[in-house]
Amino acid sequence: MEDPVQRLVLALKRLPGVGEKNAVRIAFYLMQEAPAKGRELAEAVTGLVERSRPCALCGAPALEERCALCADPRRDASLLCVVEKFPDMLAIEKTGEFRGLYHVLGGALAPLDGVGPERLRLGALGERVAAGGVREVILATNPSTEGEATAAYVADMLATAGVAVTRIASGIPMGGELEYADRLTVSRALAGRREMGRP
Ligand SMILES: [Zn+2]
Repeated sequence: MEDPVQRLVLALKRLPGVGEKNAVRIAFYLMQEAPAKGRELAEAVTGLVERSRPCALCGAPALEERCALCADPRRDASLLCVVEKFPDMLAIEKTGEFRGLYHVLGGALAPLDGVGPERLRLGALGERVAAGGVREVILATNPSTEGEATAAYVADMLATAGVAVTRIASGIPMGGELEYADRLTVSRALAGRREMGRP
């Protein structure tokens, strides 16, 4: 049997921003305050993970079939911003300047690591564009080798789809990540996007 304290510490320290020291502190705090605080946390976590699933449209974590953003009629469905991961979507959302919808690929093409096109949500992207109503697809993958390769692949894939395809400006340093860029940099990258394909 695995030691329950060790098991909790291990699970906690894998969470973003927690670390070993805080994981141990939290574990002992919960032991001390057991059972009320621990049960409350356990139930909150279970309640969330059991309801959470990828949004049927954009692939972002959601509690319903469509995430709150995709379900918002005030968003401009003719603009589609393609990102590698959910935190990248949050980084763009934080600028407050993008009113369109997103498409989360779930990563970037990395053939050497075994990530081919079939591992990304590219088919779903093709279907969304083919369904009509999209005017521009903005490629906001990271300025890394994988991100650039992914952008080129998507631009190629959508070349005959009848939509404008744009790439966000660099400004985010090569090898940098959208997720960690400051708001102004992301905002400028978005505003300075260039054309990769025309309808
Ligand atoms: Zn969504």
